[in-house]
Amino acid sequence: MAQTVQVIVDVPTQQTNHPFTYSVPDKWADTVKPGMRVVVPFGKGDRQVQGFVVGVDAPHHFDGELRPLAALMDLQPVVNDELLKLSQWMADDTYSFWISCLYTMLPTALKGKTQRLIRVIAPLSDEERRGLFDQQDELDFATIQQDPDLVAKIIKLRRQKKVRFEYRVKNRAGVKTITGIRSLLTPDQAGLVASHLSKRAVAQHRLLDFLAGHFDQTILEKEVEKQANISASTVKKGEEEHWLIKLPVEQYRRPHQGKGCQKTAPLKLNQEQQDALSAVASAMDQENTQTFLLQGVTGSGKTEVYLQAIAKALQKGQTALMLVPEISLTPQMVARVCGRFGEQVAILHSNLSQGERYDEWRRIDRGQARVVVGARSAIFAPLKNLGIIIMDEEHETSYKQDDSPRYHARDVAKWRAKYHQAVLLLGSATPSLESRSRAQVGVYQLLRLSHRVNGQSLPPIEVVDMRPEIRQQGETNFSRRLMELLQDRLGKGEQSILMLNRRGFSSFMMCRDCGAVLKCPNCDISLTLHMDTRTMRCHYCGHEEPIPQYCPQCHSRHIRYYGTGTEKVAAQLSALLPAARVLRMDVDTTRRKGMHEKILRQFGEHQADILLGTQMIAKGLDFPDVTLVGVLNADTGLELPDFRASEHTFDLLVQVSGRAGRADKPGHVIIQTFNPDHYAIRLAQAHDYDRFFATEMNVRYRGGYPPYYYTVRVMASHEQEAVAAKAMIRISEQIKRSVAPSTIILGPSPRPIARMKRRYYYQLVIKYKQDPQLHRILTTVLTETQPRGFRDLQVSIDPEPQFFM
Ligand code: ADP
Ligand code: ZN
Ligand code: ZN
Repeated sequence: MAQTVQVIVDVPTQQTNHPFTYSVPDKWADTVKPGMRVVVPFGKGDRQVQGFVVGVDAPHHFDGELRPLAALMDLQPVVNDELLKLSQWMADDTYSFWISCLYTMLPTALKGKTQRLIRVIAPLSDEERRGLFDQQDELDFATIQQDPDLVAKIIKLRRQKKVRFEYRVKNRAGVKTITGIRSLLTPDQAGLVASHLSKRAVAQHRLLDFLAGHFDQTILEKEVEKQANISASTVKKGEEEHWLIKLPVEQYRRPHQGKGCQKTAPLKLNQEQQDALSAVASAMDQENTQTFLLQGVTGSGKTEVYLQAIAKALQKGQTALMLVPEISLTPQMVARVCGRFGEQVAILHSNLSQGERYDEWRRIDRGQARVVVGARSAIFAPLKNLGIIIMDEEHETSYKQDDSPRYHARDVAKWRAKYHQAVLLLGSATPSLESRSRAQVGVYQLLRLSHRVNGQSLPPIEVVDMRPEIRQQGETNFSRRLMELLQDRLGKGEQSILMLNRRGFSSFMMCRDCGAVLKCPNCDISLTLHMDTRTMRCHYCGHEEPIPQYCPQCHSRHIRYYGTGTEKVAAQLSALLPAARVLRMDVDTTRRKGMHEKILRQFGEHQADILLGTQMIAKGLDFPDVTLVGVLNADTGLELPDFRASEHTFDLLVQVSGRAGRADKPGHVIIQTFNPDHYAIRLAQAHDYDRFFATEMNVRYRGGYPPYYYTVRVMASHEQEAVAAKAMIRISEQIKRSVAPSTIILGPSPRPIARMKRRYYYQLVIKYKQDPQLHRILTTVLTETQPRGFRDLQVSIDPEPQFFM
């Protein structure tokens, strides 16, 4: 009878994207469990790779030749049952490798590091051993690879077949420990020892006293020294006398998170908040999985509802997970959650080091942290017994991962909520069309907060038409109206936020006189400028035309492509308002760790009058003295070749407007645009989500876009353009033959960014309503086009892409 296990190996290719069977040496037969990491031999030679046990077979008779597991890397599973199932579902659902999904769910520290070892296989002379091998017969190549002489020596030994290279997997998951001590004497014994000691050995008496008082406890050595005034040498003496032992005590690396948070009590909810919370709480009591969409205007107190729903889960002995977009994971947000739940909170954000992340993960896994707050990948936090999952700003595109595995956190959240029979609470001031339309038909339950908590109305929004402005003032980023208000705030000592919309890039043509943008005749999507070929191209269907000399609508020659950087704008601003202190916040000024927090703190402390930034500043900021918000260019983004362009623009304008007038002083918003009549801008001005939703749904219906259709993008890339194009044509024909008649295929066409990293990209966008065969067809395409090397054709599949760039 043999024990065998199923292992997913760390070799991410389509050919190896299934479990391999290994035999289990007898000594591990009782230990090995699904979810443990193991080391297995794989492929030719002695190559060792890390793998995950995904199944343990019942002992059975086995005749064939099976290779045995080489090592267990864990004594307990690192992937629990739920997450193992989730990883398998996710691999299938997102057309990705199972191994990639497993690694995506785990902290990087659990990805084994491959070590190159040099092993002695023939007797060596002392001279040959010098500088390389002492007594041992193996050496980590990394320790000598910087030294050319030693490397030369190794190469020579290898040629003589005296050493060989081996690959071994090394565990990176280091746990930080510090020294603790534990008494080996019972209190009585300690007393007895003390009675035999000279009275003059004062320090030793103190130590024995201390040990007697802390029998059966492990105390950190530094605490012993501090609390009882006992020196390290006395402790050492105690160790030598066998009064105590020293032992390692595990420490969590927790960088200043939540330290010094003011403890807060739940606020008394207003009626709308109370109604929303009651609905959520009663679903939690019924333990019947349900999705809620909490649609609340900015400043309506959504976060307070989240916090009290989390408290409800904790009360029931359950755990809670709250996702926020990375950019709104601000110190303000962290302070609010930590202030309410203290040490039970784990925070997962992108600034953690590998070790810190691993430690937060372990606190969660062991049930020490029962509330998790984090950005996208926190959705995989190993919480057990989840009561609620909250997704703030559920419309944010950053919840979808751009690279493989291309999962959407919302889909993973749904899967986990169902698994735990938990509640999923989606929140936003501007829900995605997908979510809101589900609420419309009753798949989600809609909850609304229609008023700001402070009783203030939403700030009035003024739309400034930049076309006459440019005609009168010449090229500028600042209208006279905006300057006037900036000056006014400066005089009153109030603060302003200015946003430069930098979504996308400056490669579309817009008429400066009438605001017209060149659109594709087939797709109702703007054309993208390609300077290399000097053409305008549609990235959905491939339509192409020459760059126009004049505006097709008003025949003006003031047609140009659009785009300005924050740095340039900051300089212009300083020239116009020399007295103003300006803080700039964009990718450049926040690249260094901690800069994001620093800029926000400075602004909060009134060290600046104006905060100028990109989309980064649109969300989550809550500064009471900000009474003016200006959007310098609402148009950028509006005309990107993307059917979600209007939605993104509307969301952004509503979000950034929400930064004004949050406390007792009323706010005001200025939106500068070349398209003052565009419905996304008009309806943002009116704070009218519902009308925007209705209008945009109509546009989507006519264009056949989500949420009326599902979409998938298939992409092929190659160093040679012709190879990528030809492959895409072949794949497109293969797909066309088998899809449902109602399914629509756009393309093949070059991807908007057609060449990246010296590879050409071609794409196909598939729109479908119901096509039960499609998933199987696409999986087949993927299997048949598997690359053998990087230079081969590479095909990827992206379900529900958020961008088409
Ligand atoms: P949102 O998340 O909807 O933008 P917030 O949760 O940030 O809104 O709430 C805005 C402000 O109102 C915060 O400062 C918050 O502390 C406060 N607040 C929320 N609910 C209440 C309440 N019931 N009573 C008093 N203040 C509240
Ligand atoms: Zn024009
Ligand atoms: Zn087109």
